[in-house]
Amino acid sequence: MKNNYESLLMETSGLRQGSVRLTWLGTAGVFIEDGKTGILIDPYVSRFGMSAVALRLPLKPDRQLVQKWVEKLSREKISAVIVSHSHFDHAADAPYFAIEAGAPLIGTESTVNVGRGAGVEESKLIAVKPGQTMTFGDFTVTFIESVHGPAVLGHVPFPGTIDKPLVPPAAAGKYRLGGVFALLIAHPAGTILHHGSAGFKPDMYDGISVDVLLLGISGRGNTYQYLENVALKTRARLVVPIHLDNFFKPLKDDMSFLPMVKFDEFCRKAEKHRDIFMVRTMPLCKEIIALPLDAAILPGDVLR
Ligand SMILES: [Zn+2]
Repeated sequence: MKNNYESLLMETSGLRQGSVRLTWLGTAGVFIEDGKTGILIDPYVSRFGMSAVALRLPLKPDRQLVQKWVEKLSREKISAVIVSHSHFDHAADAPYFAIEAGAPLIGTESTVNVGRGAGVEESKLIAVKPGQTMTFGDFTVTFIESVHGPAVLGHVPFPGTIDKPLVPPAAAGKYRLGGVFALLIAHPAGTILHHGSAGFKPDMYDGISVDVLLLGISGRGNTYQYLENVALKTRARLVVPIHLDNFFKPLKDDMSFLPMVKFDEFCRKAEKHRDIFMVRTMPLCKEIIALPLDAAILPGDVLR
């Protein structure tokens, strides 16, 4: 594993029958699709500047940019927009993706209130509870209760719930956490776990094993404990770090790290488990193959 950022997963070339492809939109935002059905998780492309967030200025989602992304990802393939928690960097743009794609917006009651405030139709708002499962085409998504990482000076930022429709523009602090979900995504080609925020509950992955783990690494506490409770516990075979890019800068395909993300430290500690899982980075804004696993990795990489 190199310490500088370099993508080490296979980019898609043409349609591969039976495969699941993944596009990383920065932060915890991913689009996962199999050619017929697609699941969009935590899409956030407006990427408000650091000063606007810190000064608590009202944040206005960039609907034009959302439109462009919906076209790029291909509108008809977006079957669902799922939000893992309601902070602005996960939830602020999600309602507009749902509106543009005509897809349901799915998450906690807080996320539903973000959707309501943005004008998503009631019939397209779905509140889910931990343990619930939903099916989209060949994908089955299970919502697993999780915990937010201690992201700001050891604390979870903007705790609490959003109890009434949140109408943008709104300050970052209005996007309260709500609950936190990890998303277990099962497909005939394999299993992907989206663990977007770097907290965990010790027993949350009892009895669960996955092929690919999309692991949010910003705002984590102890890296060893985190890897042990999430990557080792789920017996993940391929770990792909997400939520490590500087989301205060516009979304482009050049990666720059979020300050304090300590990517080198993450790599060093993950490397100690190289006999158990492989860590591979992915490019921003490009489609890669996620499943089946042997198609995802570069020739020469060996999965144990
Ligand atoms: Zn958050």
